[in-house]
Amino acid sequence: MKTFAQEQVNKFIRGIGASSGIVSGRAYMLERYKVRLPQKRINPWQVEEEVQRFLRAIEESKRQLREIKERILSPEVREHAFILDVHLMILEDQMLIQNTIDHIRKRKVNSEWALDLTLERLDSAFKTIEDEYLRERRSDLHYVAARIFRNLMGKKHDDITKIRGKVIIVAHDLSPADTLQMNLNHVAGFVTDIGGRVSHTAILSRSLGIPAVVGLEVATSLIHGGDLLIIDGESGDVVINPTEEVYRSFVERKKRIRFLERESLKYAPLPAETRDGVRVCLQANIEMLEEVQGAKSHGAEGIGLFRTEVLYLNRKDLPTEEDHYQIYRKLAESIYPATATIRTLDIGGDKFLPDYSKGNEANPAMGLRAIRFSIKETEIFKTQLRGILRASPYGKIRILFPMISGIEEIRKAKMILEEVKRGLAKAKIPFDREIPVGAMIEIPSASVTSDLLAREVDFFSIGTNDLIQYALAVDRINEHVSYLYEPLHPAILRIIRMVVQSARQAGIPIAICGEMAADPLHVLILLGMGLEEFSMNPVSIPKVKKILRMVRYEEIKDLVEKLFEFPTAMEIKRYLRGWVKERFPDELKTFFPEELRT
Ligand code: PEP
Ligand code: MG
Repeated sequence: MKTFAQEQVNKFIRGIGASSGIVSGRAYMLERYKVRLPQKRINPWQVEEEVQRFLRAIEESKRQLREIKERILSPEVREHAFILDVHLMILEDQMLIQNTIDHIRKRKVNSEWALDLTLERLDSAFKTIEDEYLRERRSDLHYVAARIFRNLMGKKHDDITKIRGKVIIVAHDLSPADTLQMNLNHVAGFVTDIGGRVSHTAILSRSLGIPAVVGLEVATSLIHGGDLLIIDGESGDVVINPTEEVYRSFVERKKRIRFLERESLKYAPLPAETRDGVRVCLQANIEMLEEVQGAKSHGAEGIGLFRTEVLYLNRKDLPTEEDHYQIYRKLAESIYPATATIRTLDIGGDKFLPDYSKGNEANPAMGLRAIRFSIKETEIFKTQLRGILRASPYGKIRILFPMISGIEEIRKAKMILEEVKRGLAKAKIPFDREIPVGAMIEIPSASVTSDLLAREVDFFSIGTNDLIQYALAVDRINEHVSYLYEPLHPAILRIIRMVVQSARQAGIPIAICGEMAADPLHVLILLGMGLEEFSMNPVSIPKVKKILRMVRYEEIKDLVEKLFEFPTAMEIKRYLRGWVKERFPDELKTFFPEELRT
């Protein structure tokens, strides 16, 4: 008979790679958020005592969070301590407190039950949110609630500060409070059951440079404390108790990746140009100011996409004009003389802010989102635009509007921008009157009318992540149809070529800022189609630079011309495989996806 322990030898599981790097270490289990709640009815004379018990748990939770905050010593970790303030604010939230007290009083239930009822209600408001960033606001609420539950039930919090040795933290979920109080010198990596690439754990671990795999679903049920783990924060692979052979191949892979990373970093300061002298511009996609330094050291020549959704997170109110201004000003100054392209709010639905809740959307990906939301909620939009404009004299800023679907939409957005400009001019507040305005091309209708759109804007930026989703009707976050998500689909290549031609004819610059730009092979194809500006995650810049410096533009143009002859992505890839094998035999293993290696 197979024993449980045997089952866990060399077990491979795959989650979402959230922060790259390969590490091995012993598992340290953090028991979190899996407490069974006692549900009890109480007598009328017990009500007031129960209310007091609830309020004491709230006070104790506040005290603990303040203490955690005070104990943070490392300055890099301190930068993230604002999340604890958000949690403290939630503990002051009257909706959370009053609702729970009402439940205790009216339904005559204990505090645990009452709080659970409050959470259920708040949860249903959050449930319909499609935007990954905003869904995370719900986890803040749960982190806080879990702390209150533990305090109500007298459960001890694991003392994470006492972790010794170098371990991989395994948890159902990690709250920012958990992460912030860990001694990061003892943490080799993070593994969690839930979360996505933009969950707190993911964002924090990326900025702290700690490898992480999230969204594994079964990690806490399969892994036991002390198990030896290998985690690959890029691919999302986790191996539980690897055999010696697997472990050795892991050490080899790690060495090779380290070597290649060091090797490709040498390319960071070199110009991004082909062997026959075609110069292109490689920029970085970032979402936090702290990433600017990393972008520069990886050789970015500007910020091609500054996603602004993070600004609206981790807070109960909306960012003020001053909040926007301060961040964009610092961004512009820190990347100067290069350009920073700031994308206005690209929110996935309008239901994230209770005040703006308009009910459920059956199809949020096609709902009131991004520029549609901004045009509807003009005050939120104008506040952001004023912040951007006020920051514009401090560097070179471009404004980028997301999810533009046609001419009317871009005109409306520009009209609002003009109104904001007039207001600033009247108030004698300086701003760049010629600030370039661009449209994201990520909806098929925008691509098809790109010749017309090109007359309305100063530049285009193709967002392939969404473009592929909408053009092929493949939900970009649905794993059941991910096999259909194909950047090399002939339709995608044709759409991109068409948009490039429109931009060329109108004489406006065109960039690409979707994930396609981070793939060395795709970059070559995009280059062959005439793109010269690529924005990607900073880490990919050196390897893209390296590959660009190895090819001749003329040969790539021929290659791409050939690719357009094939009717299917499979044939395109088959041809590419042959080309890569012949042209880059040495780089095959590292620069090209698995399927092109054999
Ligand atoms: C895109 O859609 O390609 C893009 C860059 O934007 P996001 O991934 O933020 O939707
Ligand atoms: Mg997009």
